[in-house]
Amino acid sequence: MSEPLLHVEHLKKYYPLGSRWFGRSQQQVVKAVDDISFSVEKGETFGLVGESGCGKSTAGRSLLRLIEPTSGRVRFDGQDITDLSPEELRLKRKDMQIVFQDPFSSLDPRHTVQRILEEPLIVHGVGNAKERQNIISRLIDVVGLTHSHLQRYPHQFSGGQRQRIGIARALALQPKLIVADEPVSALDVSIQSQIVNLLQDLQEEFGLTYIFIAHDLSVVKHICDRIAVMYLGRIVEIAEKNTLYSSPQHPYTKALFSAVPQPDPDIKTERIILQGELPSPANSPVGCAFHTRCPMVMDICLNERPELKETEPAHLTACHLYNGANATEKAI
Ligand code: SF4
Repeated sequence: MSEPLLHVEHLKKYYPLGSRWFGRSQQQVVKAVDDISFSVEKGETFGLVGESGCGKSTAGRSLLRLIEPTSGRVRFDGQDITDLSPEELRLKRKDMQIVFQDPFSSLDPRHTVQRILEEPLIVHGVGNAKERQNIISRLIDVVGLTHSHLQRYPHQFSGGQRQRIGIARALALQPKLIVADEPVSALDVSIQSQIVNLLQDLQEEFGLTYIFIAHDLSVVKHICDRIAVMYLGRIVEIAEKNTLYSSPQHPYTKALFSAVPQPDPDIKTERIILQGELPSPANSPVGCAFHTRCPMVMDICLNERPELKETEPAHLTACHLYNGANATEKAI
């Protein structure tokens, strides 16, 4: 079997919190991403999902090294990129792009679309002026905009059009991997499907691989092949999307997915309402991070962190229920 396009191993991103306290040797940290590992195959769309603040966006930025991970390794396209120098990383970034959630704040308002699209080509020394113009013409076509848009500024576009510009910019250097960080969350529902369909068409045309970060599970179900569920900086479950929607294993995944509306009104699913608040990532519970809200909590969960393990073929879950331990349901 060929090597995956991306392999993330024990990735952590911790942020120090305030100054050291008197008499305390250890500084408090926010564990935004806390030891996650996964692989993404070429041509795959891999979803990272979870509630706001679960660390999915930080994970996406850390694996691209847009923010420096605290530790862990990232192997991309046959090369370990963890220790690349800034210049080596700049060259590699050609192959790894990001589409941001808010297209307005990610596009320079002082620049025309022409300049926004040409800039990455100039920075990476792609072609002469005429060749760059050909690339820009092609980009503007594939994302469904017109050539008359090239001389306009970002504020002259709708949200959906701005996201198309963001996607065109990400495509300019013909990347292999695009991290799409909540790419449709800021858009009207009517526009969301257009952008999702555009991303799928582009994937087919250019053989792209996506990491699709989202909290909207309906969108994720539509576009992703496999999905990783995150809770408090950790991955709690990874599976192929149909498996995850039909047979989730982790109690958190079950609760999260029970809130997804069923397209078929005859299918009745019981909504699982989680008790308690999401703990602060600065004060993550010991043992299983979900134990303060889990309806299935056991003694072992309070002290031992469950490892992410294969529980069925190609289905990984981090939960002591799948370790052969006896589960005792806690009254909610
Ligand atoms: Fe619940 Fe324990 Fe499983 Fe965590 S390890 S999800 S607390 S049963």
